[in-house]
Amino acid sequence: MRIEKITVYTGELSYAGKAYSFSQGRIYTAFPTTVVALKTNTGITGYGEVCPCGPAYMPAYAEGVIPALEQLAPVVLGEDPTHTLSLMRRMDLALNGHGFAKTPIDLACWDILGKHSELPVHVFLGGRMMESIPIHRVVPLGTPDETLASVDELRARGYGHFQIKLGLGVAEDIATMQTVCASARPGEVFVGDANAAWNRTEAIRISRGLREQDCMLEQPCTATVDCITVRPQLLHPVKLDESLGSLAEVRAAIAANAMDAIAIKLSKFGGITRSRVIRDLCVDAGIAMTIEEAWGSGIASAASAHLAISTAPEALLNGTDIHNYNSNQIAHGAPEVDNGHMKVADRPGLGTEPDFDALGDPVREFKR
Ligand SMILES: [Mg+2]
Repeated sequence: MRIEKITVYTGELSYAGKAYSFSQGRIYTAFPTTVVALKTNTGITGYGEVCPCGPAYMPAYAEGVIPALEQLAPVVLGEDPTHTLSLMRRMDLALNGHGFAKTPIDLACWDILGKHSELPVHVFLGGRMMESIPIHRVVPLGTPDETLASVDELRARGYGHFQIKLGLGVAEDIATMQTVCASARPGEVFVGDANAAWNRTEAIRISRGLREQDCMLEQPCTATVDCITVRPQLLHPVKLDESLGSLAEVRAAIAANAMDAIAIKLSKFGGITRSRVIRDLCVDAGIAMTIEEAWGSGIASAASAHLAISTAPEALLNGTDIHNYNSNQIAHGAPEVDNGHMKVADRPGLGTEPDFDALGDPVREFKR
C-alpha cells in the first residue's frame, strides 16, 4: 500500500462555554483545527487531526501545521502507511521535533491500518481493557463560587473527575480548591492545574495550604527540574503535563521521580506511535495517566480514546471528551459519552470520518 495524496482541511472549533481561560492570561473562545486525509492507492483513505490549545500552551500553533506538512510530505508520499513506526522515523529524520504537525499524519496512518485490517485501532495498541473510559472535565479559571457552580453542573451530568484551573494567586488558589474539595463526594477526583504558573515558593505554600484536601497538583512549576526540586516539600501527588514533550523527557522524569501522574496528549509526542511507547513505559513505572488531546474534534478524541481504552485500568486515571468542549462539530462518529464515561466504537480504524460539509474545500494538497 502506498500513500498517493495528502489533502489538508482547516476548520474552527468554538468553545462551548463562555471562555476557556487558564493561568497567565491565556483565554480562548475558538481553536483552529487541521484535518488531514491520506489517500492510498488501494482506495482506503485515513483521517487525522491536530488542534493545539491556542499558541501559548505547548510549543505548537495551528498556523505552523501546514508549513511543517510541506517539509513532511516528500518523505510521506509513496510510503506504506501501515508501517507506522517506519513512517514516524522518516518524518523525524526530515523534521526535528514539531510532533504536533506529525500527529495528523500519524493518526491517519493508524486509521488506514485499522480500515485495511477491518479492526479498530485499539486492537493494535493492546486491545480493549475496559467497557468505557472514565473522563475528567476541565473547569476554567474562576472564583471559588464560579468554580463550585461549574463542578456542580458537571456533577449533575454524571462527571466525577474534575480538573480545576488555578493560577490566580496563592490565597485565591487555596480558596478555590478548598471550596470544591469540601463538596467532594465519594470516588470523585480533583486535580488543581496551575499550567506552570507557580514559582517554587508558591507551589510549596499552596500545597501546604491544602494539607487537608485530597487532591492532586498538575504542572505546578514550568520546568520539570523545578517540580522535582519542590516535590519533597509538597504534600500532594504531582501530575506533569506540558513540561514533558518527548520520550527522553518522560524517561528522565521517571528516573528523577518527578511525578506520580502524567497527562499524555497525543500531539505532544507526534501521535499514537510515540504516545503508545510512553503509555507502556508509564504503566510499567506505576504512573497514573490522563490520555487525551490538547484540543480537537471527534477525530482527535477518538484517537486518544483508542489509546486510553487499551491501557491497563489501574494505570488509566481518565481521558477527555475534548470534542464535547466545542459548540460545533467537524466529524461524524465521535466517541459517545454517558454518565462521565466515554465509549470507543469497534468500527474499523479510528471510527470517525470528517464532516466535509462543515470543513469546506481543502486548503492544500500534496501529491506524488
Ligand atoms: Mg494539564
